[in-house]
Amino acid sequence: MAAHILFGIPVSAGVAIGRAYCQNRCNFSGLTRQKVDIKNVSLEKQRLTQAFDAACHDLKRVLEQVPEDLKEHAAIIESHLMMLKDQKFQQRALDHIDTGLINAEWALEQAVLEVQEMFAAIADEYLRQRIQDVRLVAERVLGKLIGCSNELQAFTHRAILFARDLSPADTIELDVNKIMAFATAQGGKTSHVGILARSLQIPAVVGVEGLEGALTGGEVVILDGFLGRIILDPDEEELARYTDLQTQFESYQATIMRSCQLPAETLDGYRMQILANIELFEEVVAVNDNGGEGIGLFRSEYSYLSRVDMPTEEELTEIYTDMASLVAPKKLIIRTLDVGADKLMRSQLPVEGNPALGLRAIRYCLKHRDVFRTQLRAILKASVLGNVSMMFPMISGIQELVEAKKFYREVQSEMRTQGIVFREDMPLGIMVEVPSAVITADVLAQEVDFFSIGTNDLIQYSLGIDRTNKDVAYLYQPLHPAVVRSIKWVVDAAHRAGIEVCLCGELAADPFCIPILMGMQVDSISLGPQAIPGIKHIVRQTSMEECTALLKQVMASHSVARNNKLVRDMIFRHFPEELLFYSSLAYDQD
Ligand code: PEP
Ligand code: MG
Repeated sequence: MAAHILFGIPVSAGVAIGRAYCQNRCNFSGLTRQKVDIKNVSLEKQRLTQAFDAACHDLKRVLEQVPEDLKEHAAIIESHLMMLKDQKFQQRALDHIDTGLINAEWALEQAVLEVQEMFAAIADEYLRQRIQDVRLVAERVLGKLIGCSNELQAFTHRAILFARDLSPADTIELDVNKIMAFATAQGGKTSHVGILARSLQIPAVVGVEGLEGALTGGEVVILDGFLGRIILDPDEEELARYTDLQTQFESYQATIMRSCQLPAETLDGYRMQILANIELFEEVVAVNDNGGEGIGLFRSEYSYLSRVDMPTEEELTEIYTDMASLVAPKKLIIRTLDVGADKLMRSQLPVEGNPALGLRAIRYCLKHRDVFRTQLRAILKASVLGNVSMMFPMISGIQELVEAKKFYREVQSEMRTQGIVFREDMPLGIMVEVPSAVITADVLAQEVDFFSIGTNDLIQYSLGIDRTNKDVAYLYQPLHPAVVRSIKWVVDAAHRAGIEVCLCGELAADPFCIPILMGMQVDSISLGPQAIPGIKHIVRQTSMEECTALLKQVMASHSVARNNKLVRDMIFRHFPEELLFYSSLAYDQD
């Protein structure tokens, strides 16, 4: 057996076997608070300003050199550049020098801590992980102050890269001919570095416990991007097993990519539309490359959280219009802002005791009508392109929906008066992700053009598990009878009312749940772009007849364990590779 295994979060599938290369990072741990004499304050401030300028200069250079096939990711670096140029952030640090008479390094640290504290109060995991971005940006400036750079040295041989963290700029500069895979000590499931690794199609594991100090460089290691494991000092048996897995995965990937542009149609002719979930404009390319048939969920939060102030109507209009034209003629469903009061600037708003049950999503928008109006106007302006739909998140009942629609009509009428053109019949939908919306789905269906089931929140609220708390993650059971029945209830209610239903939670990317969703005749599913080829592959190899029979058995079952076994047996019969590659999913544990 291997001597030692480190565990982390798998963010990009695949296996790499090779020698470790450890990135030497600047050591900022020794930075101390130092008093600055009042007469040297302006000099110290100038030192800080120059460091900001130099860091900006470096990032601009990286931006100019982004290779053609990674251009889609340049926006991540642009957002870092925006943070660096953000006068309020810089001013915060300068003020600390003034008021505390302290050195520039320490002042910057204080500003970073304050901004990070604001982000830490954010309930949404994706947005909370932007804390890392603040740190990466600040490290660029700190590096300038102490005369050290984290830039990667040129590689002389192929290797697996180990680093404390990688900034998007670092990742974009990675030479994929030399770097077989990478692992970082920091980072979470939705870090940018993961998005980039998937685009580059190199295996990656982030948030590895105990990584720092575990390797010196040069050792042979196995990086398992399926299960999120780093195997140090692998023995012969381990090496042979992983070499086999690597070969099988490569041939599996080649197979699924070959058919990813074909429709997701079952052997007996049933068709399901496969859409994509994206957060960033630049992910659209990956959607097309992986066979996505449109965007089923554009999480619009990023434009708000990647900055300190609010985006303007013009900025949002440009983003939505550009995205709609890039996606056209396929559809683009824009979800209106899904943040809670605590997810914006903490200085403006009080932090709630229980944000997941608080002023989130549509509730926030109905309270902050000016913010809502700006976004609605921008979406309406983009609607002229003809392929845009809009949906409201977290609708919990008819009253809330009627209220949101009333406001939407008011905004439309204002725009009409101002002579601004928009598509009058832009499809309007809601996310069904709160149990009360499930139960009243028949009533809600009368008011909208489509439903989109958000199982991430639906599972959180119906099983009572905080989706961000890893201690209760074992209770995340997509095949819990309550979850399966809720989904079926919503799908049936939608179809009775003659509207379409999409499912856009993580469950849509779970190969074990696909046959069940097909059996229910869900019209479309929406998932991360990289998961599309694998899911299409499953749909194309199954028959509706078999899925309907499976669903019948699952609907009659009272136990999660039985449901897991039923789907596992079916997947195993047809898709043994999927079982191998997705075995990290907890279906064999009951
Ligand atoms: C969901 O809740 O399933 C969903 C897709 O929305 P989000 O993950 O953005 O809350
Ligand atoms: Mg949700």
